[in-house]
Formats: sequence, structure tokens, C-alpha cells
Amino acid sequence: MDIAIVGGGSAAVGLLDALAATEGDTGTITVFEPSSRLWRGRPYGPDLDSVLVNSPPAIMSIRHGDFGHYAAWLGERAADHMDELLGRPLIPRALYGDYLAHTAEKAIAALGEQGWRVRTVAARVTEVVRSGERLGLRAHDASEHEATHVALCVGGGTPPDLYGLAGKPGFTADPYPLADTLEHVPAGADVAIIGSGLTAVDVVVSLAARGHQGRITLLSRSGVLPHVWQRPDDRRPRHLNAERVAELHRARGTVTLDDLMALLREELAEAGEDFEELAVELLSTEAEDPVQRLGRQIAAIDDPRIGRRVVQQAAHTVGPFAWRLLPEADRARLRRHLRTAVSVASPMVPVNASALMRLLESGQLAVAAGIHAIEPESGRFRVRDHDGERTAKIVINAVNPSPQATPRTARHLVRSLVTEGLATPHPAGGLLPAHPRVHVIGDLTGGGSFITPSIPGIAAQAARTARALRTA
Ligand SMILES: Cc1cc2nc3c(=O)[nH]c(=O)nc-3n(C[C@H](O)[C@H](O)[C@H](O)COP(=O)(O)OP(=O)(O)OC[C@H]3O[C@@H](n4cnc5c(N)ncnc54)[C@H](O)[C@@H]3O)c2cc1C
Repeated sequence: MDIAIVGGGSAAVGLLDALAATEGDTGTITVFEPSSRLWRGRPYGPDLDSVLVNSPPAIMSIRHGDFGHYAAWLGERAADHMDELLGRPLIPRALYGDYLAHTAEKAIAALGEQGWRVRTVAARVTEVVRSGERLGLRAHDASEHEATHVALCVGGGTPPDLYGLAGKPGFTADPYPLADTLEHVPAGADVAIIGSGLTAVDVVVSLAARGHQGRITLLSRSGVLPHVWQRPDDRRPRHLNAERVAELHRARGTVTLDDLMALLREELAEAGEDFEELAVELLSTEAEDPVQRLGRQIAAIDDPRIGRRVVQQAAHTVGPFAWRLLPEADRARLRRHLRTAVSVASPMVPVNASALMRLLESGQLAVAAGIHAIEPESGRFRVRDHDGERTAKIVINAVNPSPQATPRTARHLVRSLVTEGLATPHPAGGLLPAHPRVHVIGDLTGGGSFITPSIPGIAAQAARTARALRTA
């Protein structure tokens, strides 16, 4: 068996780790990664210390089924990175990259002991074609490789350029690594950030950490900020979980949004909480003033009510599975609440929420909604929104790439897989394998929801792929 893993980020690490833990035939594994961020991928490369992982240790383990794997690696270092409000350590993403690199190296050593030969190739794969019984891979440097199995781990897209500003002086198209992009931002400049999600929060917090003095404005259509993490209660939902959803599916052959809401009602009723109250709270997300909402959510970090925690957890555990079972009409219903859903599913960490609040209260930071145009004009940018016009010297793009977007670096590769009949494009974006020896892990997986796969989702998919590879 000759496995080609295309992309060397956290999905590849999860796959190597899971392969090392399963038994079966051995052979060769080749990991293709063109960037200098081997094992770290786009998010976890070297960057400023203010760029933090966004989740507590129990849900940052890249080893599926072992919630303590990452916490054990972190060990005593955890004490240096405590988020006091969350009551859990949150480390810089670059340090999390060290965890991924360490895990990959251990997995490669274990695979070597089992008889596998593992190597990495610093190349971008541009094509996968049929080559008799095997699969042929071509890379950008014209090198050719062969494999029996291919796992695509190419990650997600980069921020789309919604206002056509690429190449304009003062515009940053992709904010990461912030250690490089913020270097060029004068401390007194007016900065406008396009987007108000987690990437925008990273930019604001990092500007503040570098001592930025100028005005900062978050520009977005909705003005919705991510919710704020609540202290984890380590509770496992007894009703709104994957087992109950699978039971319903087995019994009735279908699962609807109303079924999921009934499970949530049961969960809340058991804890003595009111479903309607939670629904009103969530549905007001897009209407309420974002600053007031942020203040209320900071005050609710310790709130013992389980409602929001259950919805957040379900979005990542039940969500990816249930999404595929829902009728299209229910998926469309959920899409209408996309901003609220993303905001609840991927909240910001309390330490960042507090930093944002301080900047908002001091007047240095503002959130502008209803943005409809950004145009370069006389060395600045003119921005038009709900309230009229404003200008900024610097514009930083922090727009979320659309779900299941194909990264620019994988466009040729994806085209070749489709042309060769090895994969089919999903109508809603992403790719579905059309050959038993082709696998997809992570953002590019077709048929997924609009929530970016987080580490536990990637680890689970990697473990399933390892089992499929070993039994192929
Ligand atoms: C900025 C950011 C922060 C995040 N923070 C968190 C967090 O705190 N917690 C959490 O749970 N989740 C987080 N996520 C979500 C998730 O953890 C990451 O998206 C995760 O890194 C995805 O891993 P991946 O391996 O699928 O993709 P990536 O990490 O993007 O790795 C893909 C790799 O594929 C390579 N590649 C692309 N095209 C080719 C090609 N043609 N040939 C060869 N190689 C190729 C790329 O160079 C890249 O290194 C974050 C996501 C982003 C974007």
C-alpha cells in the first residue's frame, strides 16, 4: 500500500497519528506540503503570541477519542497560559503548532517501527490521474509520483476579495501571519478590518497588543460579533447527541430540524431550563447592538445555564452528521440563520472578548454594520455603510472564506480529480470521492455544513479515513 497525503496540516497529522494506531498491511506514506508550515498548516505557523487557539485543551486533541492527549503534551506549561475567565489554558497558535509537529514526529517514528516508510516532499500537487491500477500524482516542480491511495488534506480557502482591493497600497488581502502583515501598519493609522468574525478579532487583539494608537473599525454587513465562550462544564449531552440522532435515523429513515429541536428541548427540560428563552436569546443575535451583547455575554461567562453550551457543542459533534440527514428545506432554514449559527458555534475566547470590550469602551474600536462599498481614493480608502461614509488609511481583509471553498493552491488538483472521474464536485461546494481509494479530510469535504470543521471534527474524520485505508 502506497498512501499519498496531499497537504501537511493538522488533518495530515491526525491521519498519521490514527494510522500509527491501527493494524494492517504496511507500505509507504508520502506527505506533500509545499509551504514552510509543515504539520502546522495555515493557522498554526509562527505568529504573534496574541494569536491564540480558540478552544480549551479537551477539544484541541488531534487524537480522536483521547481528549487528554493535547493536555498531557501541554503539561505544566498550561499554567503560563491560563485564561482566568475561562478557567482553562489558551496557548498561542504557534505553540499549538509545536504540539502538531511533535505528534507527527511521534507518529512517523511509530509507523517506522511497524515497517512503514514515511517521507515528506516539499511540493504542491497539481494533478492526480489514473495510472493503470494505481494513481499518478504530478507536482508543480514537474516531479511525478505514484500511489495506491490518496488522502486530500488541503484545508480551506483564503479570504475572498469582496471589494476588488487586491494590490491596492494599504490593503492586506490575507491577514496571517499577523507578525508579518501588521509590521506594515503605522501605529497611528486609521485601520478598517473587513469582517467581524474570529479572524477580525485576532487582528484587533494583535493590533492592541502591538500598542496601536489609531482608530480601528470592524466593517461588516451584519455587525454580528462571535459569541463569547462560557466556562466549560464538561457535561456530555444525554439527548442532543450523535447516538440519539442515529437512533432516530434508523427508526424513521429521516431526521428533521424539528427532531433536533425536540432533543434540545429534552436536554434543557432535564436541566430545568426553558427552550423558548434560549431561542429568543439566539434569534436576537442579528438585531441587538453588538456592544451591548458583548457586555452581556462577558457577564454570562460563568452563567451555569447549559443552553448555549449545548448548542455550541452540538454544532461540532452532532452537526456534521445531522446536516447530511436533514431535508434540503431544513438546511435552507438553518442557512437563513448562518451568521447567528457561526457566531454561537465558534465563540471568541474570554481574554479576547475583554480586550475588545476595553477598546470599544475607550472609543478606539467601533463596529460598523451595513457596509456596501470600499473604494481607494487619494491614498486612503472610502468606506460606505449604513451610517454614511468614513475613511481609513489601512484596510485588512478578515472575511471568512466560503464553506467548502477550494484553496487556490488546490484548484488544478481538484480539476484533475473531477476530469479523471476520481471525485465529483458537490452541488453545494466541496468534493466527494468517486473512487474507493480517494479520501477527503477537512474543509474540502463536500456535503458539509457552513461551520468550519474544528480540530475534533478533523480528528474524527482522520480516524475514519485511517480505518478505511487499513481495510481497503
Ligand atoms: C485562522 C484559523 C484559526 C483556526 N483556529 C482554530 C482553533 O483555535 N480551534 C479549532 O478547533 N479549529 C480552528 N480552526 C479550524 C481548523 O483547526 C483548521 O482549519 C485546521 O488547521 C484545518 O486543518 P487542515 O489540515 O484541514 O488544513 P490546513 O491547516 O490549512 O492545512 C492544509 C495544508 O495543505 C497544503 N496544501 C494546499 N494545497 C496543496 C496542494 N495542492 N498540494 C500539497 N499541499 C497543499 C497547504 O499548504 C496547507 O499547509 C482554525 C482555522 C483557521 C483558518
